[in-house]
Amino acid sequence: MRLKCTHTFRGNHMICSQNIIKLTIFLLAIALWPAPAALAAPPPNPELVYTVQPGDTLMGIAFKYNLSPLEILQANHLFNPSLIFPGQKLTLPGVPAPTPTPPPTPTPLLQLPLSGTQHTVQPGETLYSIAQTYGVPVGNLVLANSLPNPDVIQVGQTLNIPIGPLPTPGALPPPFESVSLSESTIIQGRTLTVYVSLAEPATVSGSFEGQPLIFNSDGTGGLWAITAVHALLQPNSYPIILTATRPDGSTASHVEPVSVIEGPYGFEAIQLDDTRSQLLNPQTLAAERDMLVNLWTQVTPRPRWSGPFWYPIAGNDVRITSYFGTRRTYNNSDELSFHAGTDFGGSGTPIYAPAAGRVVLARPLTVRGNAVVIDHGLRLYSNYWHQSQIVVTEGQEVQQGDLIGYVGGTGLVTGPHLHWEVRLNGIAVNPLQWVRESIP
Ligand SMILES: [Zn+2]
Repeated sequence: MRLKCTHTFRGNHMICSQNIIKLTIFLLAIALWPAPAALAAPPPNPELVYTVQPGDTLMGIAFKYNLSPLEILQANHLFNPSLIFPGQKLTLPGVPAPTPTPPPTPTPLLQLPLSGTQHTVQPGETLYSIAQTYGVPVGNLVLANSLPNPDVIQVGQTLNIPIGPLPTPGALPPPFESVSLSESTIIQGRTLTVYVSLAEPATVSGSFEGQPLIFNSDGTGGLWAITAVHALLQPNSYPIILTATRPDGSTASHVEPVSVIEGPYGFEAIQLDDTRSQLLNPQTLAAERDMLVNLWTQVTPRPRWSGPFWYPIAGNDVRITSYFGTRRTYNNSDELSFHAGTDFGGSGTPIYAPAAGRVVLARPLTVRGNAVVIDHGLRLYSNYWHQSQIVVTEGQEVQQGDLIGYVGGTGLVTGPHLHWEVRLNGIAVNPLQWVRESIP
C-alpha cells in the first residue's frame, strides 16, 4: 500500500487510490454509526464555506484545497460523495475563511508603453492633440497633472507625460455624488450611457474619445448622457472625462474608465461591377459623406425620442439581410470598413419612423439613393437609404410609426433593400440596440 497519495488524472477525473480506500472505510463506518450528529464538533476557527460551482466534483474540490474527500464529507455530514450540487455550501475543514478584504480598487487606466517626459503647451494645442502626439489617453494626462478641467490648459504650461500605469482615480471629488455607466465593459459599435448624480448644484460636461457628452436631467435629480463606441475602436480601456462646474465657477474633474472589447462581427468581401465601382470614386464618396457629417453634427439640445425605437419595417415584414458591424472590403482593397447599418430585405415595403424626430434630409443622393435623415435630438440621427419613394419633406416633424417612404434599390446597391443607419455624434452605432433597449 502506498503511504502517500498519488494523484493521477484520467481525462477530467482524478483517481486517488488512498482516498478511495479512506472513503470506502468511511462509508462502512457511517453504516454502522447511527448518530452522525456526533461528528458535529464546532470548528475552532472560522472555516471556508465553499459554494459548489457547476462542473465541480467532490474529488476536484478536495484536490484544490488539499483535503481528502472524506474530510469534506465528514465536515458536512454527507453520505454520498456523488450527490453534491451547484449552489450547495460545503464547509472545508481546516481551510481558513478569507479575512475581509478592502473593496476592490478600480481597474487601472490604459497601460501603454508611454514616453516619460514633459511637454510645454504650444499655441493651438489642446489636451486632446497632445494626448494624440504622445499616444497617451487623455484621462492619463488629466490624472498625471491633476488637471481640474481638461478643456482649460495654458500656453507655456508644463505637462507631465506619464510612464506606465497611473495611480487609479480615487474617491469621487465633490460635487460628484455618483458616476456610473450602462456598461463598464462594452463591445464596439454600441451606445454607452453615462449617469451622474451631484451632491450640490453644478453643470456637468464631459467627453469620450473626442465626443462631447451632452448631459440631460432624468427628472429626478440625476443626469445622463449618451456616447458612441466606434465599431472599429481598438479594444482597450478608455477614459470618460467628466467636469462639474459650480455656480461660483470652481470645477472638479473625474475620470471614469470604460473597457471596450471586440464586437462579434463577421466579415464579407464585396465585389462591385465597373459601373458601381465608378461610384466609389473617392471624391463622390467624400462629397456626399461631408454633407452628411455636417448634418449629423448639428445639435438639437434635447431628446425628441423616448423609450425603445420600433423597427422601421412593420413586424410581419421584418427580414434582416445584413447586420450592423460586419467587417467589409470592397473589390479586394486593403482598406477595412464595416457595415454601418442594418439591412432589411423587401421592395416597395413601407418604412415607418422608429421614433419621434424631425426630418432634416429627404432627397436623392448619388451613393445612398433616395435618402431620409431624422434628427432625434442630442446628435442622434436615424438614416434610411435606397428608398424607391420618399413621402416626407425636410423640416417635417414625425411621430413614432409615421410613414416616411418605401423600400427600393436606388443608389449604390446590388438589390433593393432598406439600409437603416443610426448615427450618434456622427458615429454609426448598432440600430438594433435602440430597438431592444430603452435608452437612456
Ligand atoms: Zn446596408
